Amino acid sequence: MYFIDTHAHIDMLKGLTPEEAVAKSENEGVKYIINVGSSLDSSKKSIEFARKFSNVFASVGVHPHYVSNFGKKEIKILQSLIQGYSGTVNENLTTPHASMRGILHPHGLGFLLRGRDQRLNSTGLTSHLSDGIQKVYHKQRQMPREKRLISSLLKQEALRRYLVSERYKKVVAVGETGFDFYRNLSPRIDMERAFVSHIELAIKYDIPVIIHDRDAHKQTLEVVRKYIDQKNFRAVVHCFSGDVNFAMQCLDLGLYISFTGVITFPNARDILKAVEKVPVERLFIETDAPFLAPQAKRGKENYPGYVRYVAEKIAEIKNLSVEEVADITSKNAERFFSIN
Ligand SMILES: [Zn+2]
Repeated sequence: MYFIDTHAHIDMLKGLTPEEAVAKSENEGVKYIINVGSSLDSSKKSIEFARKFSNVFASVGVHPHYVSNFGKKEIKILQSLIQGYSGTVNENLTTPHASMRGILHPHGLGFLLRGRDQRLNSTGLTSHLSDGIQKVYHKQRQMPREKRLISSLLKQEALRRYLVSERYKKVVAVGETGFDFYRNLSPRIDMERAFVSHIELAIKYDIPVIIHDRDAHKQTLEVVRKYIDQKNFRAVVHCFSGDVNFAMQCLDLGLYISFTGVITFPNARDILKAVEKVPVERLFIETDAPFLAPQAKRGKENYPGYVRYVAEKIAEIKNLSVEEVADITSKNAERFFSIN
């Protein structure tokens, strides 16, 4: 049994270092953590953690609180963050097959191992390379033209980035993005513009969207409805705070729903009705750490290790075992975010 915390901000923890948070969470049975960006800086931080810790993945985006200056420049930066690390972009190499040959070429291996990119050594890519190298090399001997092509490709930055991303798909989502009409820290028109840009980026790179919706159910659905027919569009409403009716509308549109420790609060009656009705196959669990510590830890700083309290509450409401909730929600998340 293991849990996946699909939404945390370990860069914002005060009581634990990221290293401590990741290690402690692992001890609590948390196999993966998705660290979610809320600004460009925290998106970069998320990627940094994702590269440092094999069990951390990143989402990149700008929270609706901070979108009053969101524009072309920000979109470009997000795009480059996704391109560099989601494994979805392969600018100069047309097929994965062609680039795999490039990766497995012994000269290429030497090039990479000479420490041009230290990151590769920690990703496990190098052992992956040695495994396949002999087999492919023998084939390559008979193809001098391709061999030349491959060695020229190996010198290109795009391939280097591709190598990192292909074995190391760590940007797994765009967000968090959406509307926050509770605090209204940015003009609503800017929230909508940024939300749309995030969705379009996610569709372009075929990764899901993490939606933040606070007191804006109607507007959230309005925007989402415009995209539901697009093949690559998939999204989760994180920290679900609506009622059964809103949950059903989200499910009808194909959205996933993610619950936090809020469901353990004594005043969570409406949300609990939603927990009851949403099929376990359509939900994820999350902490939103360092915020929203579950009732049992109220007043303390939340961290991904507390995600089990969310699973326990769902198990109680749905009359399932914690193991069942852990297994099903983990599978949901792995499929949705293409982890594993
Ligand atoms: Zn969050």
